[in-house]
Amino acid sequence: MRLPVCNFDLESDMLCPNCQARLDRGEITQFDIEFSKLMLKKEEEYPRLENLVILKAAKAGARLILVVKKKNKELLLSEESLIHELIEQFGELIVIEGPTKLRTVVREFIFPANEVGVNNLYSPDGTKESIVMLREEDRERIKFSKDELRIIVSAVMGESVLFEYQDDRRKLMKEEEIKDEFEQRMKELEEHRAR
Ligand SMILES: [Zn+2]
Repeated sequence: MRLPVCNFDLESDMLCPNCQARLDRGEITQFDIEFSKLMLKKEEEYPRLENLVILKAAKAGARLILVVKKKNKELLLSEESLIHELIEQFGELIVIEGPTKLRTVVREFIFPANEVGVNNLYSPDGTKESIVMLREEDRERIKFSKDELRIIVSAVMGESVLFEYQDDRRKLMKEEEIKDEFEQRMKELEEHRAR
């Protein structure tokens, strides 16, 4: 089995300089390491998993998200008793095939809807944050809330990904307009009184 961390590191319980650097950069997480250890043990019980390639493991609330290499999803899901074990231990299991581009991951979770667009923001320290815009009309069709989407997709991508519905923006604008209107009315009333 190929895992997000080298097998040798898992067996020796020490990260090689390469994996340590990837951990420091945030490309892999402590959970990737823990989960990889577990899966390496499971391989003894499930020898067919020798050919499985897991690119990323992430936990988002009561959900386990695994990114596996293309055409590996079936291989993993066919080990039904292992899948049951994982669900029992971690909660709902979501398996997607990588390598993962942001839009591919987003579409996996908002299916059958499509995103309107993605904006990237860079903070001064160089960290990237993406904001995915969704159509208000799709809100009912998307089975995750925007908070759930943020947690899941951020976990998979290893960076902050926020979700907004277009209407939320319009609502914000409306509140501003309402405030303006209110202030305008107050001004009129004041002027009226002053006369
Ligand atoms: Zn390593």
